[in-house]
Amino acid sequence: MTQKRIVLSVDVERDISRYISESYFGVEEGIPPLLDTLSDLGIKGNFFLTGNVCRKHPTIVKDISHQGHGIGCHGFEHKVQYYSSRTKEWQKEDISKAKNEIEVVLGRAPKVFRAPNFSVNADTIQVLESLDFELDSSVLPGRLVKKWRLFTILDFRKAPREPYRLSERDVTVPGDSSIIEVPVTENPLNSGIPIGSGFLNYFGKEEFLKAVDVVKQSYVVLLLHPWELVDLGKRYPRLPEWVIKACRLNFEILKACLEEFRSEYQFCLLEDIRADFLAKDS
Ligand SMILES: [Zn+2]
Repeated sequence: MTQKRIVLSVDVERDISRYISESYFGVEEGIPPLLDTLSDLGIKGNFFLTGNVCRKHPTIVKDISHQGHGIGCHGFEHKVQYYSSRTKEWQKEDISKAKNEIEVVLGRAPKVFRAPNFSVNADTIQVLESLDFELDSSVLPGRLVKKWRLFTILDFRKAPREPYRLSERDVTVPGDSSIIEVPVTENPLNSGIPIGSGFLNYFGKEEFLKAVDVVKQSYVVLLLHPWELVDLGKRYPRLPEWVIKACRLNFEILKACLEEFRSEYQFCLLEDIRADFLAKDS
């Protein structure tokens, strides 16, 4: 039997943009100890950078790159909640701006993309093709987002759970674009959400390990946010209870979980999963 593979992905963005504006506590105090932990364990992950974090914290961004982690783009500011609610022109401007900022700081263009809040649509894929991206990891199969319970914003319930070549017309079905989708793993214990540090903080180590263990796909993409790695409630005590519970300093437990995964599974990068898909696809 082939060993299950795990990808550790991190969205490097400002603190929970739904509730707080212009705060980078997670990036400033969560990323450096995360890098130390990953370095201790010899694990490489995929870091999706927002353009404004590159601008405000170039040293932290360079540290991520120097440690050999995969570099991806996560849009410019994480201000708009859903890319799919914006025009193609708007998306192109935002992604180009973020891509340029990453190039300015790191001297190389990212080839990997993740939209804020998993909000890709067909326009995004066309934009990514035009900007020479190769891989997208924005689709969270099982995710359904509605506005006022009426209008569908995202519906990824039927999206494939294994890598596929994206279509320029519909991101939830395979097609013939140049971009390969490596879907984020849906949490088998909590539908429509990823398996990540928020879930670990909220439900604890046993549930977190169990969630990864019962995934049926050939690989697992974990999702961490910097603001989930710090005591956000100490800075912002008025945040909703669930956010405070999901965002706290917990490196010992995170490290213990990663150690367990390392002994049972194989860590790799999204680019490795894409390469394997292409090898089978040809
Ligand atoms: Zn994000």
